[in-house]
Amino acid sequence: MPRPILATIHTDALRHNLARTRAAAPDARAWAVVKADAYGHGIERVFEGLRGADGFALLDLNEAERVRALGWRGPILLLEGVFEPRDLELCSRLNLWHTVHCDEQIDMLATHKTHQPHRVFLKMNSGMNRLGFTPPRFRAAWTRLNALPQVDEISLMTHFSDADGPRGIAAQMVVFTAVTQDLPGERTLSNSAATLRHTGDGPAGSEGLRVAADWIRPGIAVYGSAPDFPEHDIAHWDLQPTMTLAAKLLATQALSVGDTVGYGSSFTADGPMRVGIVACGYADGYPRLAPTGTPVLVNGVRTRTVGRVSMDMIAVDLAPLDHAGVEAGFGSEVTLWGHGRHGGVLPIDEVAHAAGTVGYELMCALAPRVPVITA
Ligand SMILES: *Cc1c(COP(=O)(O)O)cnc(C)c1O
Repeated sequence: MPRPILATIHTDALRHNLARTRAAAPDARAWAVVKADAYGHGIERVFEGLRGADGFALLDLNEAERVRALGWRGPILLLEGVFEPRDLELCSRLNLWHTVHCDEQIDMLATHKTHQPHRVFLKMNSGMNRLGFTPPRFRAAWTRLNALPQVDEISLMTHFSDADGPRGIAAQMVVFTAVTQDLPGERTLSNSAATLRHTGDGPAGSEGLRVAADWIRPGIAVYGSAPDFPEHDIAHWDLQPTMTLAAKLLATQALSVGDTVGYGSSFTADGPMRVGIVACGYADGYPRLAPTGTPVLVNGVRTRTVGRVSMDMIAVDLAPLDHAGVEAGFGSEVTLWGHGRHGGVLPIDEVAHAAGTVGYELMCALAPRVPVITA
């Protein structure tokens, strides 16, 4: 029998979350962002749930090949563009649209031989200082691209650094709008946080519309994590978990006052208590830095972890289970995040927050040794 741990990808939840995100920008088309193997879910596993998107955005060329191999004939966008000249051959062959964020990528295009001119997304660095042409250099890049026979349509793109927080997007919107005002082409600006939080900004037809632009680029919201947790949770945004990580109890231990649990004896019982030992550890992708008190569901009942996370196991407090009158012995079901028994839900954001990280990191870190099914 395989070790009792399993991840489940929820197709209906992916569909629901995509629809929720679209509802925030109803006139825009939506790229489903499936980089990092669909945020750890697996591109092949999310495809059914996300095939209603208008396109797929990602950054590994082999992931683009996988999306085409699934039969997707619609748009695919390479969010970081090409890395070397021969990548352009794959773009031509698979009809990939690609970001252009630096002069080197324009140089590569200028020497590329293709019958089919490429659709490109010219990226502006409007303040995040990661990728893109700075505002003073943006027009020159556009003019250069526009003169290339290898280039078909030029779309305009930027990325917000603070769509999820108090700084917001206003300053970057001003920069982007000022520089691009009279340039033709479609626009794409918004990740999940900008789509959910800012497309309603201002009176109808003003700021909000421009934020939604022609294409939105939702990632994390589609995967059932709130981009601005803990300010808002998935219930606030009406999103559903798309990944459940579940395991079973391998053992229980009865502790007396003063007994400790796990490596480093970081947890000490202050009275008699029962703990369960779960078949999940950091080698499965559970965050090692999750402290005592990190939420977890046992048989659908909310409780907490105790002691350090080890490679293959964690311990959980079974006290709330006794209160709920639930039998929690060997084989009991433990939900590390996602859906539990009896309709219980543990958002991945709560676990991530307890461990000092974000839902993105936990879902991307699901380990290869964990078997995955789709439901
Ligand atoms: C990852 C990424 C997104 C999606 O961001 P989320 O916060 O997951 O919605 C959008 N645009 C770009 C350029 C990205 O790299």
